Amino acid sequence: MKKVVKFGGSSLADSSQFKKVRSIIEQDPERAFVVVSAPGKRHSQDHKITDLLLMSHQLSSHDLNFEEVFELIESRYTEICSDLDLSIDINPILSEVKENISKGASRDYVASRGEYINGLLLADYLGIDFIDASEIIRFNDNGVFDDDKSEELISEKLKDVERAVIPGFYGANRHGQIITFSRGGSDVTGSIVANGVEASIYENWTDVSGFLMADPKIQEDAKPMGLVTYKELRELSYMGAPVLHEEAIFPVRKKGISIQIKNTNEPEAPGTMIVHDDFDQIKQGSITGISGKKGFTVISVEKTLMNVEKGFIRKLISIFEANDISIEHIPSSIDSISIIVADSEIKDKEKKIVEEIKIYCNPDTVNVYPGMALLTVVGRGMVKTKGTSAKIFTALYEAGVNVRMITQGSSELNIIIGIETRDFEKAVRAIYGAFK
Ligand code: ASP
Repeated sequence: MKKVVKFGGSSLADSSQFKKVRSIIEQDPERAFVVVSAPGKRHSQDHKITDLLLMSHQLSSHDLNFEEVFELIESRYTEICSDLDLSIDINPILSEVKENISKGASRDYVASRGEYINGLLLADYLGIDFIDASEIIRFNDNGVFDDDKSEELISEKLKDVERAVIPGFYGANRHGQIITFSRGGSDVTGSIVANGVEASIYENWTDVSGFLMADPKIQEDAKPMGLVTYKELRELSYMGAPVLHEEAIFPVRKKGISIQIKNTNEPEAPGTMIVHDDFDQIKQGSITGISGKKGFTVISVEKTLMNVEKGFIRKLISIFEANDISIEHIPSSIDSISIIVADSEIKDKEKKIVEEIKIYCNPDTVNVYPGMALLTVVGRGMVKTKGTSAKIFTALYEAGVNVRMITQGSSELNIIIGIETRDFEKAVRAIYGAFK
């Protein structure tokens, strides 16, 4: 069985990182298809190659000199080549990209060159094939990713390939024009390739040892999650720092291929395994993780006998739709309903929304409460374990946190709790403490 391994930008930021990557690949002969990002930051003040490329494109498209920025790109790559004594001649490759930028190449083409060049270098260093993503990752004429065609191209092109490096982040339409995914999209490429070759696993190598059970900025000693299902991870998507691109789950999920998050700088650490949703091994009485976000507003609507009035909720919701506001949650009771939206969605529209609710829904009261935070406690074990919510709410009570809203996801995978913004950190710590 073959594995797909993806290395992120920090894992390939310089020659010493390249060496670590080679040793990881050499440790396991099943690590056959290697998807790469462009070189990322070497330290916090550094630039990602993709950002430098985008800067070059921006300058050039305004007829400004991009020479200086492009030199930074050139020196990063030439340094890797000379440190590793690569046989590839990088100069004509860089010159071609530079020339194309000055001739007005598209933004996507320019952005993609970071992965393209890094793929060529790593293939040379490992002494294996390079397969350009433009040949196997297909977008349709509207720039939308074409999963069926890509799957066909991948299985066709890679079936007789022993091992290869494939650049992440981009593909092409049928005319050969380069199109990129959104930022961080090499994760998505890895998942698509894993699906296409029916990999035994998709290893995603980054600079952290997996997902943590809580934000380490709040809970310093937060433990890593050993195992999480695709669905749980979706529910945890309020998590602060993105470890994995949100869309990277979907391609592998179809075939139940697991994703393992691993740390290039600490390869022995177990990392986090993301597995199929019906995975039934649960640890009784535990949770998988806690995540949350500040910056929500609650619009609370009360009307006696709301429960027997037909079409009330539809009318209420359509007001939000007509004002182009997406809704986060809708907790309700017999005579009241709350609409929870992100502050950024409602910011200038609050007055208008309240007016429209009064006109169209004729409620008894409408109140707006800003400054709310939402917490989600996720755990596939909840459905089978008694007392999980008792533990959560006791912990919050003991920490003096006022709970403003509670909803439980329909699959009993998570509990969502609305609290005052100022209680946010305290609440995360209290819940983490109750389950550790
Ligand atoms: N290099 C791209 C970015 O910085 C894509 C990636 O790294 O996945 O967003």
